[in-house]
Amino acid sequence: MSDKQFATIAVRAGIESDSQHNAVVPPIYLTSTYSFPGLGELPQYDYSRSGNPTRNMLADALSELEGGAGGVVTSCGTAAINLLVSALLGPEDLIVAPHDCYGGTYRLFNTRANKGDFNVAFVDQSDPSALAAALAKKPKIVWVETPSNPLLRVLDVEALCQQAAQVGAQVAVDNTFLSPVLQQPIKLGADFVVHSTTKYINGHSDVVGGILIAKDPEQAENIAWWANCIGATGAPFDAYLTLRGLRTLVPRMRMHEENAAQVLAYLQTQALVGQIYHPALPDHPGHDIAVNQQQGFGSMLSFELAGSQRQLEVFVAALNCFSLAESLGGTESLIAHPASMTHRAMTDEAQAEAGIKPSLLRLSVGLEDPRDLIVDLEQAFKQAAEVGA
Ligand SMILES: *Cc1c(COP(=O)(O)O)cnc(C)c1O
Repeated sequence: MSDKQFATIAVRAGIESDSQHNAVVPPIYLTSTYSFPGLGELPQYDYSRSGNPTRNMLADALSELEGGAGGVVTSCGTAAINLLVSALLGPEDLIVAPHDCYGGTYRLFNTRANKGDFNVAFVDQSDPSALAAALAKKPKIVWVETPSNPLLRVLDVEALCQQAAQVGAQVAVDNTFLSPVLQQPIKLGADFVVHSTTKYINGHSDVVGGILIAKDPEQAENIAWWANCIGATGAPFDAYLTLRGLRTLVPRMRMHEENAAQVLAYLQTQALVGQIYHPALPDHPGHDIAVNQQQGFGSMLSFELAGSQRQLEVFVAALNCFSLAESLGGTESLIAHPASMTHRAMTDEAQAEAGIKPSLLRLSVGLEDPRDLIVDLEQAFKQAAEVGA
């Protein structure tokens, strides 16, 4: 791992690396192919599906931030997850995943398992007996999301990695919700880290991208081989934009958190707000773990609207500073209704089992002035209250 601090790694990745014109900011390589010096002389790069200097620069920077041996930048977060299961799992193998995992991850694992590509067991990983029963089946991979989406449940990664190691399972952590600034799973014992870089890492809601990072150099080579084989790698232009976003990741994460803390404090005073889900709350499941394993609480939070479906509709429609949209981690604030949006791929039963109620709303608190965010919430609650239950 580098001896540099996070902000320095993020800001200086690839800076002054251009040997042709001494450009301070690294150029973008939009080429699909590269010339060979001569017959039988293989250049460092030969084809951009296999390797591209701009994409590799981003992969190296993120891998360094996560403390990994290497990573593959993919076309989206889902492609990174698919790359992991393609590289590691066969028809006899089992992956254990959380019952409340990201909707697209749930769909991917479920669909591929139904095709017979591998086996999946969805369990409540915070339930020790359910987890022990799943681990007893000797999974090859344990998939972890912490904090989880959308209920922000926090799981003890270090403890889970120790338990997984006892049955020979490798642990992969989806670190999208916190970014390496607020949590480093490899340091906690994980073997793989996945990001949807679409979210905080790019941070400007203008790129869809992902990365899979391996702790072990052999696995880093293995996933790079598979990424080329199945064609999972990302576009150079996307990598360039994501590297640009990465440069401000540290200050953005700090401001995201500050704003979320103010929104959280405001929500706690509201009559129309029921249960709030955020790791900073002392009675939140896993709060104590979050204090130890995270370097901050992040800026995702969910709450149940304590009113009718009609009031929920009025509240959401009245907001001006929170756009009704899926995704998260951009500079702009978003609101989502998990039951009908991000988690609609789950059946009603699966949603109920995961604790996702129809009254649940999820906020991605952005970088607007928090005073404006609170004024906006205030007028939307007022309109919802006026409709009456
Ligand atoms: C968005 C997201 C993904 C999927 O990433 P895409 O870039 O949309 O493919 C996976 N996990 C989490 C936690 C996410 O938020």
